[in-house]
Amino acid sequence: HPKVTDFLKEPKRLFINGEWQESIDGNTFKTVNPATGEVLAAIHAAGKKDVDVAVEAASKAFEEGTWPTMSSYDRSRLMHKLADLMERDFEVLAQLDTLDNGKSIKEMTTSDLPNAIEQLRYYAGWTTKMTGQTIPISHSYFNYTEHEPVGVVGQIIPWNFPIMMALWKIAPALATGCTIILKPAEQTPLSALYLAKLIEEAGFPKGVINIINGFGKTAGEALVKHPEVNKIAFTGSTPVGQSIMKEAANTMKRVTLELGGKSPNIILPDADLDKAIPGVFSGIMVNQGQVCCAGSRVFIPDHLYEEVVAKLVAYAKKVKLGHGLDESTTMGPLVSERQQEIVTSYINEGIKEGANLLVGGEKSEEGYFVTPTVFSDVEDHMTIAQEEIFGPVVVAMPYSTIDEAVTRANSSPYGLAAGLWTEDLKRAHKISRKLKAGTVWVNCYNLTNAAAPFGGYKESGFGREMGSYALDNYTEVKSVWINL
Ligand code: NAD
Repeated sequence: HPKVTDFLKEPKRLFINGEWQESIDGNTFKTVNPATGEVLAAIHAAGKKDVDVAVEAASKAFEEGTWPTMSSYDRSRLMHKLADLMERDFEVLAQLDTLDNGKSIKEMTTSDLPNAIEQLRYYAGWTTKMTGQTIPISHSYFNYTEHEPVGVVGQIIPWNFPIMMALWKIAPALATGCTIILKPAEQTPLSALYLAKLIEEAGFPKGVINIINGFGKTAGEALVKHPEVNKIAFTGSTPVGQSIMKEAANTMKRVTLELGGKSPNIILPDADLDKAIPGVFSGIMVNQGQVCCAGSRVFIPDHLYEEVVAKLVAYAKKVKLGHGLDESTTMGPLVSERQQEIVTSYINEGIKEGANLLVGGEKSEEGYFVTPTVFSDVEDHMTIAQEEIFGPVVVAMPYSTIDEAVTRANSSPYGLAAGLWTEDLKRAHKISRKLKAGTVWVNCYNLTNAAAPFGGYKESGFGREMGSYALDNYTEVKSVWINL
């Protein structure tokens, strides 16, 4: 059985063209365990020269290698093989993200990692089922369409779900026949490197999947600027997404963006509170609140406000903070010292602007923990109600009419997700149509599945990951005319 301790001792190089390469300029960076602050490993950091080499490998694999000529069935078999290897080394992969990101091992083994593997199996199924159309134009002509891979794709991902984000990106791109350069986030480089080992073992042709760690400003920007990268798929913050979109215009790259959010979670007067309150609480607290679709603005009917807020506070007091590998831990640390600073400065801003801090708001001396926090008396204009905190902070707001709640829910530049808690399904359907969000969860929250699309409205980005929709992100449509 492979062991995390053995893997941590191995050199952490760049995986390019099926080989392990050192960074050309010799740059490295350290990744730390956020529960303790201790260094886990030194990682080779890709610079522009390394990106050039990786893009050349991916271009060659796309144009000349065995990937474009491989049958769709064989592509599917390779994807299943990689999924098998991830299942074999399930424990190591789970522990690596827990060590590197801080999240609890329970979240890894019940959610992130099964979801990541599911992506490969789901899209392995699609490889053999992507079809075009035949279009009867007239007596003399017909037309058919083919969906061709877009080519070399650069994929840039964040640190909050390291292995899951990697597979959300890699799986649909592989299914369509693209070749890939994946850049993980600099805070969480480890699980993607372990994945590269499995890619090597599965026997993917050289250059089909290249994994290069490094920083956004160097490796990320070099990928976005490179003329031979045909498409950038990005998940991260809205400001970086905006800069990528501007830069991509220069080479007319295709771009899909999964960005930030400030999602509303609305409890309706008829909700089953025994389900709604814990649902709302975990809708914000999962992954220490570092979730792009976190239901971080909670709307509560006036007459239920005190009761709901008191119960949210009680839940916050029950959370057990600790090292993610400890099975009894229900909340780990934030990903980094910087994230701890960002979250605590939002909490201080909330207090300064007059919101009522009911529980939490403390940061730890060791590790980068922040205790689960609940604010009441929050007004829409306050910073904590407007901006994405990306931490374990509930912002609770009362409302008097449902129309008012929906209007306020929509008054955000973001539109990633929204939640509704009600026993009246007719009403749920009607309100769901009014919500400007890419996902609406009714009587549940934060659910994702490889078969169901996910993505944003407004400044939360565009393009959909998962489901058949994600295949469009990685294909061009060719229209062929035949003169009969
Ligand atoms: P970030 O945008 O700073 O970084 C994300 C990734 O982009 C990292 O790999 C980083 O190295 C890279 N990057 C940074 N600057 C770059 C540049 N100029 N050019 C190219 N690449 C660059 O975001 P973050 O703060 O690390 O992550 C948190 C953010 O991500 C939050 O705002 C959150 O909402 C968002 N997010 C969104 C989703 C989603 O699905 N919509 C999922 C997870 C996180």
